[in-house]
Amino acid sequence: MPKKYSLDAMEQTLRQASDTREGLLGRDARGLAAILQADDEAIRRRGLTHAHIAQHLLALRQAGWEGLGDPVSVPPHFEVRVDAARGTLPCPFGDQGSFAKVNTTVHNLASGQEITFTDLNIHLITTHGFYEGHGAQFRLDPEQLMDTLEMGKIRPCKKHDGMH
Ligand SMILES: [Zn+2]
Repeated sequence: MPKKYSLDAMEQTLRQASDTREGLLGRDARGLAAILQADDEAIRRRGLTHAHIAQHLLALRQAGWEGLGDPVSVPPHFEVRVDAARGTLPCPFGDQGSFAKVNTTVHNLASGQEITFTDLNIHLITTHGFYEGHGAQFRLDPEQLMDTLEMGKIRPCKKHDGMH
């Protein structure tokens, strides 16, 4: 069972962290609860869950890892690049362990859209359903993320199964 966090305590921690370059709430004036709720709704509107998103990001990260530094092609039309820096980041919510400073950039060659996410982003989404606040350096806007990765917007259609 997931550990229960006090939203107020979490928010206070994040606001304090906002003074640093790793700030996760950015310039967002909304409370943490409102941020979490808005992003959760955006994901649900497309029939997805945070687990879906996290698994997809992890798979792309793993695919890109093979090319470490060089772009890797991922069907149908994505290019993934993984860049690793030294050091690790802790979970701001106090979970055990820390996360390598690995940036994964996914370029949608069909649409031209691009997103970058970190290993910490993947953890924050998996465990906390948190995409960071507006203006945070590694804010992952759920709509932009799902658009870029073409997730959840194409409804399953039995008549036209498969290729598109
Ligand atoms: Zn955590």
